[in-house]
Amino acid sequence: MKYISTRNASRAVSGSEAILMGISPEGGLFVPESFPQVTLAEIEAMGEMSYAERSATVMSRFLDEFTYEELLEIANRAYSRFDSEDTCPLTKIDDGAYVLELWHGPTYAFKDLALTVLPQLISACRKKRGEKGKTLVLVATSGDTGKAALEGFKDVDGTEIMVFYPDEGVSYMQKLQMITTGGNNTYVAGIKGNFDDAQTAVKKIFTDDGVRASLAKDGYVMSSANSINWGRLLPQIAYYFSSYADLLTSGEITLGDKIDFVVPTGNFGDILAGYYAMRMGLPVNKLVCASNINNVLTDFFNSGEYDATREFHKTISPSMDILISSNLERLLFEVVDRDDKALGSLMATLKETGKYKVDLVTLKRKIPMFAAGFADEDETMETIYNTFDEYGYVVDPHTSVAIAVYNDYYLTSGDQTPTVILSTASPYKFAQDVYEAVGENQEADPFKAVKKLHFLTGMEVPEGIDRLQTLEKRFSDVLAKDEIKQKVLSRVKGE
Ligand SMILES: *Cc1c(COP(=O)(O)O)cnc(C)c1O
Repeated sequence: MKYISTRNASRAVSGSEAILMGISPEGGLFVPESFPQVTLAEIEAMGEMSYAERSATVMSRFLDEFTYEELLEIANRAYSRFDSEDTCPLTKIDDGAYVLELWHGPTYAFKDLALTVLPQLISACRKKRGEKGKTLVLVATSGDTGKAALEGFKDVDGTEIMVFYPDEGVSYMQKLQMITTGGNNTYVAGIKGNFDDAQTAVKKIFTDDGVRASLAKDGYVMSSANSINWGRLLPQIAYYFSSYADLLTSGEITLGDKIDFVVPTGNFGDILAGYYAMRMGLPVNKLVCASNINNVLTDFFNSGEYDATREFHKTISPSMDILISSNLERLLFEVVDRDDKALGSLMATLKETGKYKVDLVTLKRKIPMFAAGFADEDETMETIYNTFDEYGYVVDPHTSVAIAVYNDYYLTSGDQTPTVILSTASPYKFAQDVYEAVGENQEADPFKAVKKLHFLTGMEVPEGIDRLQTLEKRFSDVLAKDEIKQKVLSRVKGE
């Protein structure tokens, strides 16, 4: 299996090269040359497998440089760090509505599904390619990727990791999780700006030949832990298959039935993995893209126009506060029939003008499985309350956005297909907002909010959240956007 760049389809690389490079030098993203097919019988057989086995089964279709056993070992190591035996438990909240909990990993957000795997993949790829020297992992984060990547790469031999988060744009717990990270190879800084600024700055460093050359002199190659990296997306495809297999095993659906997924979306990595699962043969009816009031994607799917030139809103679902969703590029590549020139020109227009337009009729014809909606801040708070009130089930604000959009979609479309709603973070990562929503009281102290939320709901507090109170804060840098590059260069010199 080869991978091609969305902006230069004649550049074909192996899976290990795609993972180690992160992004193609001309700025394109690597996509699989084709989608390997999984039969219904193979999906049914997943019902009998552990999550790690399901994951290895899916990954092995794409990474022919690895044996199934090698990938299984990686997956076993990754998912043994989860606090649920099921890894991603599926909870029925209503007839035909199921919540897929993707936050039982070490940092309590769905990013752990991929970031417990990626560092191992990178190490293994380097070994296979006989590469010496070190890997510098650069991460721009809207809150959850940063901590998940830090935990994944912390003290991994031959790697350095640097994480940049929007100083004013992440939750209290998210920030505390990052700045208390241990490890000798870790660095964390806030940046003055929002997530898009951080992501753009980091992407620019990746494609800067001067930086590349300078790092090479110090024995480093750069890689990315953002979902632009194929090694991030790949492990995410598995949970779409996994939830289908679970619904099958529990008799909620029969083999071949189509299901819907509702996905709280930011950088478009999570939902794209669902699209790839469908292209591999998973019976999917709709993929519903749920946004908060930074609803660029809702407008895109409904009008064909992608317009990032709008006000940026800070919300209570900060991991979705994104106006430039990087992974949409991979979907667009399919919309334009994998025409790298056409795609390149759309991306150039986006860079110059902050927007682009594709023909709506073409869009609906090429990707009819996508639907989209958004929830505002009040709806998000109300839905946290209603979900607890009606089902006794506590959700974080990102998941609440998805449930609110699901409710709207269900009412307006009449679509009766069984639906899996992806739950992307533990409510305790956003304890103050969740407590305010269900307890109808504000609590200014984040750790008191955790306690009160626990008392009110009986939901167990993750050990790692409690522990944050006592950990030393190790990082305090706040950088201007144009200081990031210098920081990267001096870091590898050990300054
Ligand atoms: C990252 C994140 C999202 C958005 O996922 P994308 O892959 O960026 O679309 C949603 N919810 C939470 C809690 C996240 O951390």
